[in-house]
Amino acid sequence: MRKVLVSACLMGEAVRYDGRAAGDGGGLLADWQREGRLVTICPELRGGLAVPRPPAEIEGGSGSDVLDGTARIVTPDGSDVTTFFLQGASAALRLAQEHGVKIAVLKQRSPSCGGREIYDGSFQGRRIAGEGVTAALLRRHGILVFDESQLTEAESWLRCQPD
Ligand code: SF4
Repeated sequence: MRKVLVSACLMGEAVRYDGRAAGDGGGLLADWQREGRLVTICPELRGGLAVPRPPAEIEGGSGSDVLDGTARIVTPDGSDVTTFFLQGASAALRLAQEHGVKIAVLKQRSPSCGGREIYDGSFQGRRIAGEGVTAALLRRHGILVFDESQLTEAESWLRCQPD
């Protein structure tokens, strides 16, 4: 059966930096859960961060740049938390590979999970095109990354694959 890696906060787990969830795991996610397809992870917790934790943004680039060592991830007081995010991304990739995952549905705009947009590192709420560190690492290893607004597209891909 084709497995789907999913951000834990989309499944109702209160793992976000502010101690809240980002979704209730309903709709197609619930269908996939019933089918036993879901592999759930919060990369930031797996990387060693706690709940709650300060917000963090990528400074100086995108997730791919963080992987290449040319950008970093900081909190509003300037603390460098890059190492935690890299550890979380590696944990997510390992988990995905253990389960033969080819597709992920990750929370949009997160510095870990964002697939198309992130915040620009100014903590002013400004969005830029880019991806989070986990999304970038998964893509480098051939895993398709969708976000929670693309569940229908993800479902279409899933249904076209042999199980
Ligand atoms: S790291 Fe990903 S799964 Fe964890 S709270 Fe942030 S967006 Fe959700």
